Amino acid sequence: MTNHKDEILVKDRKFVWHHMTPYRETKDPMVIVESEGAWITDIHGNRYLDGMSGLWCVNVGYGRTELAEVAYEQLKTMPYYPLTQSHLPAIALAEKLNEWLRGDYVIFFSNSGSEANEVAFKITRQYFQEKKEYNRYKFIARYRGYHGNTMGALAATGQSPRKYKYEPLVPGFLHVRPPDSYRRPAGQTIEEFNLHCAEAIEEMIIWEGKETVAGIIMEPIITGGGVIVPHPVYMEKVQQICDQYGVLLIMDEVICGFGRTGKPFGHMNFPVKPAIVTMAKGITSGYLPLSATAVRKDIYEVFKNSEEFGYLRHVNTFGGNPAACALALKNLEIYEKENLVERSRILGERLREEMKEIAVHPNVGDIRGMGLLLGIELVEDKDTREPANPDRLARIIADCKENGLIIGKNGDTVVGFSNILALSPPLSITEEDFQFIVTTLKRAINKSA
Ligand code: PMP
Repeated sequence: MTNHKDEILVKDRKFVWHHMTPYRETKDPMVIVESEGAWITDIHGNRYLDGMSGLWCVNVGYGRTELAEVAYEQLKTMPYYPLTQSHLPAIALAEKLNEWLRGDYVIFFSNSGSEANEVAFKITRQYFQEKKEYNRYKFIARYRGYHGNTMGALAATGQSPRKYKYEPLVPGFLHVRPPDSYRRPAGQTIEEFNLHCAEAIEEMIIWEGKETVAGIIMEPIITGGGVIVPHPVYMEKVQQICDQYGVLLIMDEVICGFGRTGKPFGHMNFPVKPAIVTMAKGITSGYLPLSATAVRKDIYEVFKNSEEFGYLRHVNTFGGNPAACALALKNLEIYEKENLVERSRILGERLREEMKEIAVHPNVGDIRGMGLLLGIELVEDKDTREPANPDRLARIIADCKENGLIIGKNGDTVVGFSNILALSPPLSITEEDFQFIVTTLKRAINKSA
């Protein structure tokens, strides 16, 4: 006899197409029914600490009823109007985002990180059209960076396994080597290698024709592609290249934004001043869909004063939904009230300190990150740095799950499979939860030898 829960699982298999998951792995999906703080509960009553904040987004944790309430109130007062005109929550949120960005930006709202990046690409291309620099259309991105699932954002993405089934994608996107210091060539210091990676961008601009390159898009720290933290000299050089060649620097802050790296935005850890900042995920902590493309005021002015089109011919029905904007504003209030950005910085430092203990483990190659963003690169051999066998990674992830901790895997490395463990818990985790993560993760890794 089937019970109610079995029926639900049968329906899930029949009707729901799971994202990014092989069919064989959907046999026993977690059907999540409740969540509170950093914890999620599945249909069988199993509880897990969500060490990935969903998909790197539930930064303020689950169960914030004040977010639900503010959305409910807004839905009653004025549930929808397009941003071809305007509404109060969008205005208030755009002003607040300027405070967080510490600059002078105009905000274009959309629904997802991918869309926010598409908007950045369209604005960049049209900007140069408006300026009569008609040949500038190319974008430079990095291998291993992820920028989204839509055809342009996927073209910008530097992870081939996600892409080749969907080719041809949008033309005009080029890729360079990311500053993965752990895998730098022998004989180079981290600083030299990082500088070398940035100089490769300049070389590409020259070879491609400096009048043809419009923008450079990058995450401040490559997140899903392996938690790759650049040395400050890399970013300093990137900024200098952008200034020298008149190329717009687009920072994809979809994961790094809103405190994840211990600063309001990830790029604030480095000496850069982006022309465009894209954000999503942590803007609402995942409670409702919303994203934003923040564009430096002087770029917006070019559109305003243009003799050509004069405006951005881009609209989306749901972007900047009033309830999502009102919720986002409340969400930012929570970050501020609970000092979550600083908390992320401090807890992140402690986390990496704690993890030093497992650095001696024969399969732990590298431990890196910033704020509450952690990557642990596993290897088969510490000397050769041969990437760990995928089974090893799977065993650690399964062990953590059995003991109630969800962690992630990432990094399409040189070998084409994931050998990096990822952790990105809510910034609001309690001390007790923090200790639970540390103990469970260390134990799972130690057991895997
Ligand atoms: N950029 C980055 C850095 C991301 O991590 C993601 C999503 N993981 C995106 C863009 C795309 O965001 P979305 O899934 O909301 O379209």
